[in-house]
Amino acid sequence: MATSDSVRTPITLSDLPNEIHLDIIARLPFDGRARLRSTNRYFHGLILPFSHDDLLVAEGEEYAVARDLLTCKYCLRLSHKSEFGDNMTKKKKARGGSERHNRFCVGCGLHPSLGCTGYSRGQCVKWGRQEFVVVFCVRCMKIELAEDDGKLKECRYCQKRRMEIRRKEEEHERRVRRKAKREAWHRRAKEFWGSDESSCGEFDDSDGDPDESW
Ligand SMILES: [Zn+2]
Ligand SMILES: [Zn+2]
Repeated sequence: MATSDSVRTPITLSDLPNEIHLDIIARLPFDGRARLRSTNRYFHGLILPFSHDDLLVAEGEEYAVARDLLTCKYCLRLSHKSEFGDNMTKKKKARGGSERHNRFCVGCGLHPSLGCTGYSRGQCVKWGRQEFVVVFCVRCMKIELAEDDGKLKECRYCQKRRMEIRRKEEEHERRVRRKAKREAWHRRAKEFWGSDESSCGEFDDSDGDPDESW
């Protein structure tokens, strides 16, 4: 027969007293604390939001080093290195550098919160070994990065969209030209050969001015 001891419900983390929770939390690395904080409302309340200093310590831990994560001073997040401009990840602003607390991500540099200083218009930003210029885009009316020298006042997204539209327009124009050429060919074939189009060879469907073929 089972005794009361043998059927006792096992103790879970939630059953431990608050002091033990705090002791465990203090020993956890950053990722452990972050995960525990997201498990439920109790731990979310018990583990305070991460401060800038917490994140700067965390970026030196194995978890962040292995994943190439760095701290942004504005959004207070650990983000992948690729989210930062090249000069934000080098020399004094590199991991462990004396100016690492001044590092901010490209997103925050372009759209800083009130009271934060980000990039200014006309500033050159090196990102992913590519040079961009900060512009106020005349199309989307946002501060964004431009791929050219910024003279067009058009951000890289709007420029890409415009070029895509242009490409589709050109494709459409080509299709219209081909159709006109085909129709002209059939018309002339009919005039010359009567209605038998097959007897005068194949229609050349390549692009170009229809008049050039005749
Ligand atoms: Zn940021
Ligand atoms: Zn734009």
